[in-house]
Amino acid sequence: MCGGKAVFSAPALCEEHFCEHVELVVRETVERYGLFTRDDRVCVAASGGKDSSVALHVLQALGYRVEALAVDEGIAGYRESTLACLRSLCDERGIPLRVVSFAEEVGAPLDDLVKGRRPCSVCGVFRRSLLNKHAKGCDVLVTGHNLDDESQSVLMNLVKASGGRLRRGYLRSPSAEGFVPRVKPLARLSEREVLAYAFLQGLPSSSGVCPYARSSLRFRVRDVLDEYEAARPGMKRSLADAALRVSAPVASSFSACPVCGGPAAGGVCRACSLREELLGDAP
Ligand code: SF4
Repeated sequence: MCGGKAVFSAPALCEEHFCEHVELVVRETVERYGLFTRDDRVCVAASGGKDSSVALHVLQALGYRVEALAVDEGIAGYRESTLACLRSLCDERGIPLRVVSFAEEVGAPLDDLVKGRRPCSVCGVFRRSLLNKHAKGCDVLVTGHNLDDESQSVLMNLVKASGGRLRRGYLRSPSAEGFVPRVKPLARLSEREVLAYAFLQGLPSSSGVCPYARSSLRFRVRDVLDEYEAARPGMKRSLADAALRVSAPVASSFSACPVCGGPAAGGVCRACSLREELLGDAP
């Protein structure tokens, strides 16, 4: 665009134009898919990692009313350092931050809840439940999923034969009573773009990896897709585009969980039933 030295390839852009490109992609994603407006209260599910830090930084720079909500799952040697990065970012930018923990809300840290189960399954159930509970009052809940995450989700849903999830809304989750809609403004940016932007902007973000990540299906799918992408560039975007074409966020109906009052597909919600299984008491 300007003949200056490129700091990034594909697209080959100088620092200034690359940062503009990232911000433009986010703005276009928000506006084109109607994710939220400047009047909305935008809660960002933040962790201190690069994705949610870039989401906070770019959305604030674009003039959206952002606030951060973090969940401390209780993962020794990992979460403390990522939360320190998040606190530093929010302090620097004057972004309101709330941190809720498994220890206080569920009754025990994740490390004590795993008990031979798949850590990410246990973590995901409580994390989703706490984010929804504490984002109440906000208009949307932003997650920092990027294009790589989305292409992994497509393949995982295919592997698990979960066609319903594939169709259930790609950039914006379906509306349902009791649920704060989830939106993904970074989903059209590759992980490399997000990483480069965080570096160029000097955002305090943690590069730590959760010690449980290696046991997840996502970790294996990520390796497979990285290999395919190296052999055939553009494959991740094609997968994500396929999900975008078939997704159709339709309204779902939920009842109130008789234990916590949160949304449930019928009867007790998954978070309360899992808590009962793991800890043997109701909240
Ligand atoms: Fe939770 Fe798994 Fe993510 Fe670790 S990798 S934070 S256990 S979902």
